[in-house]
Amino acid sequence: MPHVTRSHCRICTNQCGITLTVDGEQIVRVKGDFDHPLSKGYTCPKGRAVGRLHHHEQAIVRPSIRDGGPPRDVTWDVALNDLAARLSRIVEEHGPNAVGFYFGSGLGMDAAGFRMAEAFYHALGHPPKFSPLTIDGTAKVLVSSLVGGFPGLSGKTDNENVDMLLYVGVNPVVSHGHNTGMFSPPSWIRAAAESGQVWTIDPLRTETAAFSTRHIAPLPGKDYAILAWLVREVMDGGPLTPAQPLQGLDALRGALQGYDRATAARVAGVSEDELDDLLAAVRRFGGVTVETGTGVTMSEGANVTQWFAWLLNILTGRMNRAGGVWFHPGFITQYDSFELPRMDNPFTPGAPTMPDVNGIIGDWPCAALPGEIEAGNIRALVNLGGSLVRSFPDANVLVPALRKLDTFVTFEVLENETTALSTHVLPTKDQTERPDISFWDTLCGSLSMLYSPAVVPPRGERRSAWWIVSQLMARMGLPVPEGLPESDRTPGADDTMLARQMAGARCSFEELQASGTVSRPLEFPGTWVDRHIERIGGWILAPQPLLELWAKTRADDDAQAGPPPLSFIPRRQRRKLNASLSFLGSPADIILNPQDAARHGIAHGDRVQVTTPNGAIVLVANVSDTIRPSVASIPHGHESANVNLLTSVQSVDTMTGMVRYSGIPISIARAEDTQPVRDAAMA
Ligand code: SF4
Repeated sequence: MPHVTRSHCRICTNQCGITLTVDGEQIVRVKGDFDHPLSKGYTCPKGRAVGRLHHHEQAIVRPSIRDGGPPRDVTWDVALNDLAARLSRIVEEHGPNAVGFYFGSGLGMDAAGFRMAEAFYHALGHPPKFSPLTIDGTAKVLVSSLVGGFPGLSGKTDNENVDMLLYVGVNPVVSHGHNTGMFSPPSWIRAAAESGQVWTIDPLRTETAAFSTRHIAPLPGKDYAILAWLVREVMDGGPLTPAQPLQGLDALRGALQGYDRATAARVAGVSEDELDDLLAAVRRFGGVTVETGTGVTMSEGANVTQWFAWLLNILTGRMNRAGGVWFHPGFITQYDSFELPRMDNPFTPGAPTMPDVNGIIGDWPCAALPGEIEAGNIRALVNLGGSLVRSFPDANVLVPALRKLDTFVTFEVLENETTALSTHVLPTKDQTERPDISFWDTLCGSLSMLYSPAVVPPRGERRSAWWIVSQLMARMGLPVPEGLPESDRTPGADDTMLARQMAGARCSFEELQASGTVSRPLEFPGTWVDRHIERIGGWILAPQPLLELWAKTRADDDAQAGPPPLSFIPRRQRRKLNASLSFLGSPADIILNPQDAARHGIAHGDRVQVTTPNGAIVLVANVSDTIRPSVASIPHGHESANVNLLTSVQSVDTMTGMVRYSGIPISIARAEDTQPVRDAAMA
């Protein structure tokens, strides 16, 4: 008899409530939970696909080992003993730093599994660590640290009260989890544009731009020119109405001296009239709330753009004030319950093979992984739910390097190119098979915590990630956290592990488990934020590393000559999340401006070969005037056209280790006029 179970989606951090209709072990329907107190029925196509994900024909349901030949299914004992012996030997012969860790998004949404993986990493003495941070987001941590004196300051727009909102390189209609935190984004944006104004800056007229009051389409990665000019105008003619103390205003004035409208328009490739209109709107509303996304953080101009975005929020009094930006205090770790330490230096040691590139808050640049393997520094890799081949830069050098690893273990639920390269594949419970909490509490749009029970039994031999990792630690002779349940198959064991994560949270695990969703009132403006900023002497407007970067950026722009080359920007798709959920059928398309298409003899629907010095891929032409001339848009990590065959491990921001994923020059031609593309990486 079918029954309905309430749960929450863990594809992204938005925390949408869902209901699953289950018949026996079959999930027959997934839809939005209209009784959910937060999302009230909203879901996106990704969340409604968790049933298909569970029943997918490429689901991994047994552990396997590949040692020279094709992979063979083995028992858990065989897999874990073999893996533990190999990792122990590598540690013994080469030291723990020969074992790299990738904390991927897959295990990132598994609270108990992620925490146990962290325990494993700590027990090994903090060996090389990689995460999606250097794939899409170092600028935010950098600026929170340098300007706000704390890397955990996670700002969100006060959507309820915002009047003048400026989206820069962010498309919340598609990407509304992962820090934005928004349900039914079109309704929000339409309402904000009706009651005030919403401006979007993006080379592509995105779904968000279509709902906005105005859209400005700059050259890729040059948004900073518009924001820098606005900052200077605000300092010179207002509205200069900061809500907290400032430090470094004179140094900032000096850095922006002479940055006039003509310069900004030239560098950004936009008209001076557009800039005038934007400034007039900012002055009319007495300020501006700026929100950025991966369109900014994946570009070469990421750090200065993010800096100027913060400066506009700070200088026009939008930081920690109604209608501006609120800062998430956390539900488990409560930033408002203690005195935040001053942490204004996010830089940490990086990879030996990239000595000029910083690490950031303990992460090594993802771009360094192939070089570290080739140098023999990293001999084993523990991949915690990451699609490396489609998310790391430069698959051309990454894939051959991964093949050279002595041991490459991947925790996954579905087969993909990365599992095909792994020596050990360990299947973990998917989100319908395990209970969980909304672990990334500061990335959602409210002060809340969710709990969902398991909905169906695990397929095949899948086990809880926390159990797998703890077993591996024990078999390697590493100290395992005390008091663990004996097995994940003991009734209630997964819940026991979740209860451990909730220690010291704003509610008990029992309260959370009983109600499913617990929300607490948000203190806004947060006195903890103002107190922190006062304690550090005010917002740090002009940190030296950013001043130096800005001077270099200005000099590079002044030296720039000639028209911009055709270059690509990355794009998220509504029916795919980065490298996952390809089975939902999002097209491998390249959006091209009609002028660029015509110049290359390309018609809508043609197959287009896109080439960089690194490699080539073939996509389908989507000829549209929604994109500005000289820019093309290519989806993230597509199964049939991996954009990371075009990117380069050499193109790295030395300040943060962030790879350049946007504004990369390309050549295009009709595929039938070119040599067939051979996937050098996977051959
Ligand atoms: S927005 Fe995120 S949490 Fe909500 S249904 Fe979509 S993928 Fe799931």
